[in-house]
Amino acid sequence: MKLRVLGCSGGVGAGLRTTSYMVDDDILLDAGSGVGELFLEEMSHIRHIFLSHSHMDHTAFIPFLVDSIFERLTDPIIIHAQQETIDALQAHIFNWVMWPDFSKLPREDNAVLKYEPMKPGEKIWINGRQIEMIAVNHTVPGVGYRVSNETCAFAYSGDTSTNDNFWNVLNSYDNLDLLIVEVAFANRQSKLAQMAKHYCPATLAEDLSKLKHNPDVYITHLKPGEEMAILSEVKAAIRRFNLKTLVGDEVFQL
Ligand SMILES: [Zn+2]
Ligand SMILES: [Zn+2]
Repeated sequence: MKLRVLGCSGGVGAGLRTTSYMVDDDILLDAGSGVGELFLEEMSHIRHIFLSHSHMDHTAFIPFLVDSIFERLTDPIIIHAQQETIDALQAHIFNWVMWPDFSKLPREDNAVLKYEPMKPGEKIWINGRQIEMIAVNHTVPGVGYRVSNETCAFAYSGDTSTNDNFWNVLNSYDNLDLLIVEVAFANRQSKLAQMAKHYCPATLAEDLSKLKHNPDVYITHLKPGEEMAILSEVKAAIRRFNLKTLVGDEVFQL
């Protein structure tokens, strides 16, 4: 299984893209501005997009993606997400005002975008890869994902603050090779982190201590300009793992 980081920043700027991860060549986890790293040919292989939540840094490039490859598509792109996330996309993005409703184009019975509501705890198998949706704790209904095949597994937290469920679900399995977990703010912005329901290094340290596995841990969604401060606070607070910052366009072979 191949995992490619298309975008992993908490903001934008030269060289910085917002969240999107590609699994092999056909699945996206979130579709922030990282999708803009893909060539048209690569975009045309995408068949499934799993969304963590509705926020724009995770969804903003779905409209451009669909529009760019509209003519090339023979099968629809399926968006897997909680019903609340799908409702938000339909009401606020694909509403014919912000963007055309591609779930009705070119024809209602043969559209290029298809929604498949999913609930936390559900698992979907796609060509030998299992994707499980896991509830987390964000300002809007939010989830993370555990992605596995017969031999390996990785997990992605989505956007979250303190919770037990994500860690309990990961602990219920025998293996976890790689973990991508968000930490958006430095400790001095812990109040903001609490309000926006993101981790800061102190709260991430508490929650990571719940994990029984010893995966490679990569932190993500760092506020631009705060990367060094957050990383040094995370390293000081968490000794058990060899933590690294995720960088754009990194590829993991699992
Ligand atoms: Zn968010
Ligand atoms: Zn976010």
